Amino acid sequence: MGNKKYKGFGSLAIHAGHVQDPMYAHLTPIYASSTYVYDEAEQGSRRFSGKESGYIYSRWGNPTMSEAEAKIAAMETYGIEQDGKQLEAMAILHASGMAAISSLFISSLKKGDKILTHYSLYSGTQDYLRSLLDPLELEHIIVDLRDLSLAEKCLKEDPAIRMIYLETPANPTLQCVDLKALSDLAKQYGKITACDNTFATPYLQQPFRHGIDFVIHSTTKFLNGHGTAIGGVLVGRDIEFMKTRATKKHRLLGGNSNPFDAFLLVNGMKTLEVRMQRHCENAMQVAQFLHDHPAIAKVNYNGLKDHPDHVVSNKQMRHPGAMMSFELKGGYESGVQFMNKLQLCTRTVSLGTCDTLLSHPASMSHSSVPREDRLAYGITDGLIRLSVGMENIEDILEDFAQALA
Ligand code: PLP
Repeated sequence: MGNKKYKGFGSLAIHAGHVQDPMYAHLTPIYASSTYVYDEAEQGSRRFSGKESGYIYSRWGNPTMSEAEAKIAAMETYGIEQDGKQLEAMAILHASGMAAISSLFISSLKKGDKILTHYSLYSGTQDYLRSLLDPLELEHIIVDLRDLSLAEKCLKEDPAIRMIYLETPANPTLQCVDLKALSDLAKQYGKITACDNTFATPYLQQPFRHGIDFVIHSTTKFLNGHGTAIGGVLVGRDIEFMKTRATKKHRLLGGNSNPFDAFLLVNGMKTLEVRMQRHCENAMQVAQFLHDHPAIAKVNYNGLKDHPDHVVSNKQMRHPGAMMSFELKGGYESGVQFMNKLQLCTRTVSLGTCDTLLSHPASMSHSSVPREDRLAYGITDGLIRLSVGMENIEDILEDFAQALA
């Protein structure tokens, strides 16, 4: 878990978490084994009682998965000191981002507790809160968490609120909430905080640095970086909680990862720094190009000075990132036409892969959502969501120019 020996984030991303393989393989192999053997019955007994460390069963842990977990914990705590010491955290790898979110809520809340959250959240998380937690009597309150006095009013009026849950930057308007201000407020009222850091990655933003208690990722996105596996992770700075309640709930819920996906993730994460640098460099140029284009009504990118959360984003992120959305003046029809004209960039949902990905939520992911509801979340008819890739910038801009012409 210690990461002091690395001077730079890129070196840490490459090396952290690696344990020399007993057979001297260079890369940690895919340990495709569901269970682990004991030299003698007493050893089995020691492993089960925790007196001896070692693997037991792959739902509980696996060497390939351990490397991914240690690497993510190291990246999320890189360079953060607490009481004069390097901050430590523990990560638990999951089958998906949704499985990690599940473990977070189920391990840290009890019946009657409430979640205070922002209205701009991944649609799956919104649905989870409504469809899965509401019937379990774990209610949520949705407010604009950028309004701190409103957040404080909620905490004062409703002592049942146990957790503040947020995403920053958030989908699709790239709204950013102030992590430090919210975590300070939460501490004042004895509440816990959790942040979905999927859009930013630990290279661009470390929620623990700002006092947040839990970090969630859909590793499916920038962490894996190549679109090869679904995955998720729950990271916590309270090691005792992570080793006990979070581990127990994770094992019982059964949303564990697997060695194949963990292998892809480990090797994808080694290039996180250089990938993010290229994604970000391209994103800034794409945002400026779109901002100046006559066919575009609005660009939602926290890196542009006219974005309402530009200042907060600058304060807590190394760079605004590679996600953005924009509105075409021609509405729904223009959205469909623009998507159809793309020649290089890819028409798909998801984000964080090498290629530039675009989706038109009104005709795709949100086509079944009533128009009024969609508009309330900022998903207008001509809105295009964009994950800027690592192609050469001139190729991305040429494709956009011809599709917008
Ligand atoms: N969080 C965010 C911000 C996401 O965009 C997604 C998926 O798109 C998730 C969580 C869920 O992750 P997964 O699809 O890996 O379960």
